[in-house]
Amino acid sequence: MIAEVILNSKAKDLDRSFDYEVPKELEEKIKIGNRVLVPFGRRKILEEGFVINLKKQSEYETKPIKSIEENPFLNENKIKLAKWISKRYFCNLSDSIKLMLPPGTKSSNTENRIKDKTLNFVYLKKSEDEIEIDIENKKIKSEKQIRILHFLMENDAVTISDLEIFTDTSRAIIKTLEKNNYIEIIEKEVERNPFLNKNIQRTTKLTFTKEQQNAYEKIEKSIKQNENKEFLIFGVTGSGKTEIYLQSIEKVLEEGKNSIILVPEISLTPQMVDRFIARFGQEKIAVIHSKLSIGERYDAWKKIASGKIKIVIGARSAIFAPLKNIGLIIIDEEHDSSYQSEMTPKYDAKEIAKYIAKENSCPLILGSATPDMKTYYKASKGEISLLELTKRANNSKLPTVKIVDLREELANGNRTMLSRSLQEEIKKNIEKKEQTILFLNRRGYSTFIMCRDCGYTVKCKNCNITMTYHLKQNKLKCHYCGYEEKPVTICPECSSTNIRYFGTGTQKLEQEVNRLFPTASTIRMDVDTVTKKNSHEEILNKFRNDNIDILIGTQMVVKGHHFPKVSLVGVITADSTLNIEDFRANERTFQILTQVAGRAGRENLEGRVLIQTYNPDSLAIEYASMQDYKTFYESEIEIRKQLKYPPFCDIILIGFSGENEQQTVRQAKKVHQYLKNRIISEKIGILLYSPVPSPIDKIKNKYRWRMIIKCIYNEKINDLLQDALSQNQAEKQVQQTIEINPANMM
Ligand code: ADP
Ligand code: ZN
Ligand code: ZN
Repeated sequence: MIAEVILNSKAKDLDRSFDYEVPKELEEKIKIGNRVLVPFGRRKILEEGFVINLKKQSEYETKPIKSIEENPFLNENKIKLAKWISKRYFCNLSDSIKLMLPPGTKSSNTENRIKDKTLNFVYLKKSEDEIEIDIENKKIKSEKQIRILHFLMENDAVTISDLEIFTDTSRAIIKTLEKNNYIEIIEKEVERNPFLNKNIQRTTKLTFTKEQQNAYEKIEKSIKQNENKEFLIFGVTGSGKTEIYLQSIEKVLEEGKNSIILVPEISLTPQMVDRFIARFGQEKIAVIHSKLSIGERYDAWKKIASGKIKIVIGARSAIFAPLKNIGLIIIDEEHDSSYQSEMTPKYDAKEIAKYIAKENSCPLILGSATPDMKTYYKASKGEISLLELTKRANNSKLPTVKIVDLREELANGNRTMLSRSLQEEIKKNIEKKEQTILFLNRRGYSTFIMCRDCGYTVKCKNCNITMTYHLKQNKLKCHYCGYEEKPVTICPECSSTNIRYFGTGTQKLEQEVNRLFPTASTIRMDVDTVTKKNSHEEILNKFRNDNIDILIGTQMVVKGHHFPKVSLVGVITADSTLNIEDFRANERTFQILTQVAGRAGRENLEGRVLIQTYNPDSLAIEYASMQDYKTFYESEIEIRKQLKYPPFCDIILIGFSGENEQQTVRQAKKVHQYLKNRIISEKIGILLYSPVPSPIDKIKNKYRWRMIIKCIYNEKINDLLQDALSQNQAEKQVQQTIEINPANMM
């Protein structure tokens, strides 16, 4: 018997399976998914690998497998899924297999880790690049030290004892690295698992409202009939979606099956999880989240694989949990872009969920107050069953939203970031001792220019996408098609010379707030203040518990959290997401404004929202202020149709990066020419654009180029792209990536 084995390696040239002979005595035992140790090439040590296929014969000369170990996380189905992922998302098979394994799959005794109140966490102290250079220059030679450093690059929340166990090293080696300033060890107080081990009052089913009942009955029917059907619960925040999830899961339990519920990482809070524990008790529930130390994560996966767990709650990666007998998958806030991985493999958890639901022949529920355009489009076509909740379940009121025209402020001589009406509202809130959130809508890294008198921004004439300003060349560029022009100094719409460059600003905003309101306490949350060590959860807890007057933040403040004392939300400029170079600019703006508005007045305080903008006529802003998704959808879907954007077309992004720019460009052109030839000779109906520099055209000293394809992504296109890669092997220094409808177009 022959086993096809994939080695656990990142190397591109090892991204294929190798045949090994299965020794007679192991033939009975070996299964697809088993972990094996095998000899490879001239290496002295045995390599780790996974069995991905079994067959009678090999055309090659084969060496025997040395040992086999059952892997509780992999089986034939999981291997099949891994193969599907590596084809669909263009990644190494070993990378997609890793998705299905908890970190550090070495068979170690993780049971006797110390269960302390405080744990020593280990963090890298130098950048990954600096470390790699030191390794290359032999400044670090010890194999064990290198293993530790690489492990820390790949894993978060690593405790000292985890590190010893998972890298098979010792405390002394870790201490040496600390002494040499490569790592630091920080003692942090932790609850073993902040999500579990609490005394929570049990709750029971609520009596459904009419709308909830209607929705639930359709889902219940699918659950009972093991029907692979998709549902969209479209309901405003507070309309009782979660209650429907809870009772659907209860039904699935009655049927003797298990459920997975995905939520965006940032809204996976203890309060959110408590609702599930209160209903089902904690023995049946596993919570997968980024704050688990890797040891805890390993334990959680083992417990799931053992069959004790009936309900898995987690962010994106929880879709790969080794849960068997799945009867329902739920994706809450389904429009959230965090379901798409930005790291290799760049998978979309929503697509994986569809695959798994189909495989298990079970329903899939998507829930949102602002559904993804694609999801709602499918629902409108009847491909997804639409379940609507139009009213809030507890009858609390939606906040009142007011739009402030910043052009008028300027005309009146106010050059600060805060309009007079927002200043007044903040003052009132400070006096009443109610809390305020100031939200700076910023995303990406690009700078754009805008007329401060009329809100005009320069858009590409071919793509209708805001053009990015490049300081060095003093040029405006479109990163979709490469079109460029000189920046305007006089507004073509209103002839004003009041042109401004827009970029960052939370720090500046905080200074301004402190100047205007010297007695008020403020806290800031953005990429600078949120780090691995200082989580957003900690900042938000401080805001809540220390009764801080004003929270200033970016995107991160928007989701999930519930602050009973927040009665005012101010959006400083709604315009920046409107001007990102992304076909989803309007959609993102609408979603984010609707969500941020939902932070105000969650309980008995009356909520007020002020949206400041230079574009008060933007439909995304106007419809968000009215909290009217459907009208927004109707207008936006027309634009998508005209410009051939999703859902009418898929956007495929082929990226090239390398330290040598000429090499990188050459490779991009080669692939472009190849595709062009095939498209012409085979009359394939796709739109192929020429290679252009990426919006961020250099990262970590690597030049980045890319090209865009618009088409309906299907098996045939996938094959074409696979050919394009395999027949145009890049020079070693150039990396190629392919992404389908990436969440981030930068
Ligand atoms: P969503 O998930 O849509 O934001 P939730 O399920 O969290 O909505 O419901 C919002 C609030 O309304 C919660 O406090 C919940 O307990 C309450 N609620 C939900 N359904 C009902 C119901 N049928 N009867 C009474 N209260 C309900
Ligand atoms: Zn103007
Ligand atoms: Zn363009």
